[in-house]
Amino acid sequence: MRVVLQNLTKKFPARGRKNRGEVTAVSDFTFEIPDGKLIGLLGPSGCGKSTTLNLISGLIKPTSGKIFFGEDDVTELPAEHRGIGLVFQNYALYPHLTVRQNILFPLQNRKGKDRLSKEEMEKKAEEAAALVQIGELMDRRPSELSGGQQQRVAIARALVKMPKVLLLDEPLSNLDARLRLQTREEIRRIQRETGITTIFVTHDQEEAMSISDRIVLMKDGVIQQIDRPQEVYDNPVNLFVAKFLGTPPINVFEGRVEGGKLYFGMKTGEAARAVLDVSGVSDRKVFAGVRPEGFLLQEDGPLCCALSGLEVMGRDISVVSMHAASQNPVIRSIISTESRVDADAPFVCFALKPNKVFLFDRETEERILF
Ligand code: ADP
Ligand code: MG
Repeated sequence: MRVVLQNLTKKFPARGRKNRGEVTAVSDFTFEIPDGKLIGLLGPSGCGKSTTLNLISGLIKPTSGKIFFGEDDVTELPAEHRGIGLVFQNYALYPHLTVRQNILFPLQNRKGKDRLSKEEMEKKAEEAAALVQIGELMDRRPSELSGGQQQRVAIARALVKMPKVLLLDEPLSNLDARLRLQTREEIRRIQRETGITTIFVTHDQEEAMSISDRIVLMKDGVIQQIDRPQEVYDNPVNLFVAKFLGTPPINVFEGRVEGGKLYFGMKTGEAARAVLDVSGVSDRKVFAGVRPEGFLLQEDGPLCCALSGLEVMGRDISVVSMHAASQNPVIRSIISTESRVDADAPFVCFALKPNKVFLFDRETEERILF
């Protein structure tokens, strides 16, 4: 099912003495979620992810704008008639019911012509349980399950109705690191197998990057960028996006462009060496972001940093260094283990890979292409 948001806005009224202004949780969202895709709604806490999800589900009504499921305008349609499946961070299972009864619950509530026979309901519950691989747990109660198993039951319960749209709000946040990784792969598999259009909310960029067909990156209720994960990483539209994606994070330097060349730091004069050729960019102050994989070790390289240490991470090495123009307390550059770095040297020098360097206007923080 294709989902379309059209100029969707949600404002919450001012409340209490402290909170004077109204909050625009979702500001003028227009985008389309293609049929059968998994979309990651990503952004820091409070940026409006849950509000967006709740608008799509029908749990809350927009201040203005429209929502379409396929050709149908569902903006005024109550949640229970939208054919959605919802999964939240806290599994919200009924503690006194068994796993089987929990999964059956949404089907048993159906009325009239939608009501299924007992056998049909059992069959659907078995299928949903098999999909999330909890078939052998059907007679346990939630208290007898691990967190990961409980979340699988919650997913099975959302899937048993064969929803047109599956909405997941930070579904992995209560799981430990290993289980989080495993469960996100499971969700991706289930989504592919069922082809259900899915919206996955998370504040974790790595999670969104790994699972999504498209990422919608938000900040303060405003969409920053919508694209394939790799594209957002390779081509961030502004400094916020560049900083939000990637581990280790992007290294940001205060710099300036003069005569088509990029310099780090504000000092002008003979001593300053250009770190990169950026012909076509007019003279101005910039922020320059360099991805950790954008540094090339080079003895006579133009960017020399004070070496603070090496972190060996198995597959590669992280060189930790410092530079006066760096905004991050330390610079992290990832280099291959085959490279030789003298750990006792006072300085380490680099050349920069142009496609791993992004320039941003110092005032607007918008990307400057070169
Ligand atoms: P996220 O899920 O990205 O953390 P939310 O969608 O929950 O963010 O919240 C977005 C903004 O809207 C926040 O500033 C939050 O305080 C505000 N907000 C959310 N729900 C309500 C509400 N029911 N009443 C007033 N403000 C709300
Ligand atoms: Mg939320």
